[in-house]
Amino acid sequence: MKKSTLCVHAGHEPEPVTGAVMPPVFFTSTYVQQAPGEHQGYDYSRAGNPSRTVLEKALAELEGGTHGFCFSSGMGAVDAVLKTLSTGDHVVAMNDLYGGTYRLFRQSYEKLGISFSFIGCSSEAEIESAIQPGTKLMWIETPTNPTLTVVDIALCASICKRHGITLVVDNTFASPMLQSPLALGANIVMHSMTKYLGGHSDLIMGGLVTSDAALAEALFFNQKSTGATPGPMDCYLALRGIKTLHLRMKAHVENAQQIALFLQAHPKVSRVFYPGLPEHPGHGIASRQMSGFGGMLSFELSTNTEENARTFLLGTKLFVLAESLGGVESLVSHPASMTHASIPREIRLRNGVSDGLIRLSVGIEDAQDLIQDLETALSAC
Ligand SMILES: *Cc1c(COP(=O)(O)O)cnc(C)c1O
Repeated sequence: MKKSTLCVHAGHEPEPVTGAVMPPVFFTSTYVQQAPGEHQGYDYSRAGNPSRTVLEKALAELEGGTHGFCFSSGMGAVDAVLKTLSTGDHVVAMNDLYGGTYRLFRQSYEKLGISFSFIGCSSEAEIESAIQPGTKLMWIETPTNPTLTVVDIALCASICKRHGITLVVDNTFASPMLQSPLALGANIVMHSMTKYLGGHSDLIMGGLVTSDAALAEALFFNQKSTGATPGPMDCYLALRGIKTLHLRMKAHVENAQQIALFLQAHPKVSRVFYPGLPEHPGHGIASRQMSGFGGMLSFELSTNTEENARTFLLGTKLFVLAESLGGVESLVSHPASMTHASIPREIRLRNGVSDGLIRLSVGIEDAQDLIQDLETALSAC
């Protein structure tokens, strides 16, 4: 089945007892047992809830995997993967990671004796030279936040396979509609479902998908043991969001493409980071591994200072100043002082996140209205 059909139907069929077309929301913490230890597959909602099962199945189907797991946040999902490691293990990670992922690696897991190498992931030689005898995991994100760096998933997967390393891809920015990491050889796909999958900025949730039975068992163990599991209402909201994911992503991509061209041609803009532009260094790889270039972009003003960026940020009306991304509404943010504030300045600058960089999460409003809003804000800069 095509992904558009999966968005609408994955995870459930009409409910057998009443015929309800939409799956019921199971507000229950516990389940009656026929005899001690004898039940219908559910004993306690931290370990499993039918509303969560439906969503986990839908997510797994969308990513082309066999096992899906949902968490009460994207970070809960990241944590469940890291907890499969032991003291002494080594992780190769991208140097341009989501700030919260970087913080969890450096501040929570390094002190437990897990070591990390942060690299650009731009060539086979670079990746190979970062691998150590104790390397168990490679963690990449593509496209990255906020410079939209693109990493070759198939290349990473072939290197990891050779060394027996588990490859995890944070697929949040692309969503399952635009990129399928498992099909390219990754072992685990991670999502902040808070973003495009939920799609309406009304929930916090994370997800993992794998087709590896042993990994699935370990992830399920960590999910129920740590207990960062989402409630049934959030699961319902996320499922409802997924039903229009294909339509929303199409609109996000079309709008972002138009806005990227508008910004690129604007005299007050010096640089636009969008993988859909042929000038973008990741354009070639993105064309191969993505079916659309996404709804996220960032740019620098000709006078690339924090002060000038501030003038711009206070000048938009439709683009609301806020963290997060992937909702139907357009958002604008300033990574240096917002999402990336916890990353030391010199590391941030090395990763291309300048003091004046502006990030847009392009929503699904009318493109001309969005461009008009940007034009107004640019004219004040
Ligand atoms: C938001 C985000 C996360 C973290 O997810 P939460 O749902 O906020 O916990 C991880 N990776 C990426 C790329 C993100 O954008």
